[in-house]
Amino acid sequence: MAERAITLEVITPERVVFREEVDSLIVPGAEGLLGVLPDHAPMVAALKIGILTYRKNGEKRRVAVAGGFFEVADNHAVVLSDAAERAEEIDVVRARAAAERARRRLAERDANWDFERARAALNRALNRLRAAGADTGDLV
Ligand code: ATP
Repeated sequence: MAERAITLEVITPERVVFREEVDSLIVPGAEGLLGVLPDHAPMVAALKIGILTYRKNGEKRRVAVAGGFFEVADNHAVVLSDAAERAEEIDVVRARAAAERARRRLAERDANWDFERARAALNRALNRLRAAGADTGDLV
């Protein structure tokens, strides 16, 4: 662990996904990736669906984040998101099924389906598969 650590919290309406001391992190900002090292200036940013990466003791870990908000101040970083999962807790079979379902809905272009909702569901599912290191080649 570096001399100065950052306390990282990832919180959803359902649970505290985790709270850990980390060396650095990269969050999927709505305007692009945001890197955070210790003593970062205070900041608030919107997030998009993407992968949060953090380093701890030289190891890199991934967390799938379904958008939301990010705040950092005083070496305390908080991610608030509707849903977030550590890479190792992602159910790949479920994410693959969700991606296939969303793709079918998008392909049908049925007026009864909310297009944006299906697109967001596809994005979340693909993001989970990528965070878990699963192959998405046939889905994109
Ligand atoms: P699904 O259609 O499979 O429910 P979804 O994208 O609609 O996927 P969300 O509404 O984003 O699901 O999330 C609902 C809850 O389920 C959240 O707590 C989220 O962390 C969890 N979750 C969703 N998909 C997975 C997955 N593949 N593995 C583990 N947890 C998941």
